[in-house]
Amino acid sequence: MQDRNFDYLLKIYQAQVSNKIEIRKTTASTRINWLKKLKETILQNEQRIKEAIYKDFRKNPIETETTEILASILEINLFIKKLKKWVKPKSVRSSLLFATTSAKLIYEPKGNTLIITPWNYPFQLPIVHLVASVAAGNTVILKLSEFTPQINQILKEIIAEVFDENHVAVVEGAVDETTFLLSLKFDHIHFTGSPAVGKIVMSAAANNLTDVTLELGGKSPVFIDKNINIAEVVRNIIWAKFVNMGQTCIAPDYLLVDKSIEKEFDLAIQAQIKSAFGKKPKYSEDLARIINEKQFERLSGYLAELDHTPAEWIVKGYHDKASLFIHPSVVKNFPLDSKLMQEEIFGPILPVYYYSNLDEALKIVNEKEKPLSLYIFSQDKKYINHILNHTTAGGTTINDAMIHIIHPNLPFGGVNNSGIGQSLGHYGFKSFSHERATLQANYFPMSKFFWYPYTNKTRKMLS
Ligand code: NAD
Repeated sequence: MQDRNFDYLLKIYQAQVSNKIEIRKTTASTRINWLKKLKETILQNEQRIKEAIYKDFRKNPIETETTEILASILEINLFIKKLKKWVKPKSVRSSLLFATTSAKLIYEPKGNTLIITPWNYPFQLPIVHLVASVAAGNTVILKLSEFTPQINQILKEIIAEVFDENHVAVVEGAVDETTFLLSLKFDHIHFTGSPAVGKIVMSAAANNLTDVTLELGGKSPVFIDKNINIAEVVRNIIWAKFVNMGQTCIAPDYLLVDKSIEKEFDLAIQAQIKSAFGKKPKYSEDLARIINEKQFERLSGYLAELDHTPAEWIVKGYHDKASLFIHPSVVKNFPLDSKLMQEEIFGPILPVYYYSNLDEALKIVNEKEKPLSLYIFSQDKKYINHILNHTTAGGTTINDAMIHIIHPNLPFGGVNNSGIGQSLGHYGFKSFSHERATLQANYFPMSKFFWYPYTNKTRKMLS
């Protein structure tokens, strides 16, 4: 790293540090105008965005339209609608002791921020976090993933059309560039990526006591009760698992299904995968590709590891390194200590564990790191509450999968190993703002009550 020249990054960084006071002064209306221009520019480039992501990992253009473009536009719309309300100071109630004061929370921009994003939703993730930071009145260095060069180019052009570089700058690069950026002092760092790199980011941030939001990953389990509409639930899971070729942070990682429905459930999985992707999924236009050879090797390693075990394949097919294709694969009776059950899968492989009693399923979940998401399918309130009370997760959707992430009034985030802090909507705005506690003494300073000498009168006044 020492040999590389990162002067260009330093120049951008210094320009933003010098400019952050100016950006801080901007009104909500000015920021809304930027967001409107961003929205317009995205919509003008819709076709190019779809083509670029298709080139990067063959994602279906309609999937890009919904999960990348629409998801970004919805977030921008929310900020355009709500920002004037969110930036306003919020009065808080006082107690009798503070009756002569007024107290409020003021939302200040944090200053110069760094946003680091992964490759798996290469348009949506940079945009939604950028929107929150700009709306809160910060400058932003946006570090994109090195694995999606096509969409990165379009993002650079879109952002350069809307923002000056001393306000928002897009940079590419891998470990060296990110390490260099992390050596600089930011007022906030927002990182999306793996828990392993999250730890690197957090320890670098600790050197400057910079606060962080970490949006990480993990193994998101799905509990499935016996009293469900099997075909409908399986369809729901197949979509959530295989959208983006399984490369989604909140994708169902593994299923825990009541053993009494095993036969019907297996059959439903086979039927629904066929119905979704045809007899030869390799030719389905709806399945994206694995992002690169490294990820392909990791995923095919999971499959190979099961070769000499009692694992049974509910669905399996060939995989092909040349086209980075892995057939949707569903497996049962695998050893619980296999890598597949130890690491975040992040690909089109779905383990199904049929449990005979719920405690054994809960034990599997609770022995692992806290998940980013947890899903429950059941018509039984008791079952749902039992799982909610005996597990934890960043977020949960019940009787559906993944959609809690797009609810406009719910925070998105993990817990410990799956993330620290919250993003999206109002929560994203607050993550990129400093909530300043502000108290005004309206008639006389309260220190009056504390004045020396301390006597019983002081005690009485304050009690
Ligand atoms: P990653 O952690 O490998 O990379 C993320 C970013 O960090 C990239 O920009 C990369 O260039 C940079 N990076 C990689 N190694 C680094 C290092 N040693 N030092 C400094 N920077 C480094 O993650 P990924 O493979 O791009 O994405 C997959 C992971 O992201 C999965 O774990 C997934 O669950 C998680 N993810 C989480 C969310 C969320 O919102 N919680 C969303 C998408 C993905």
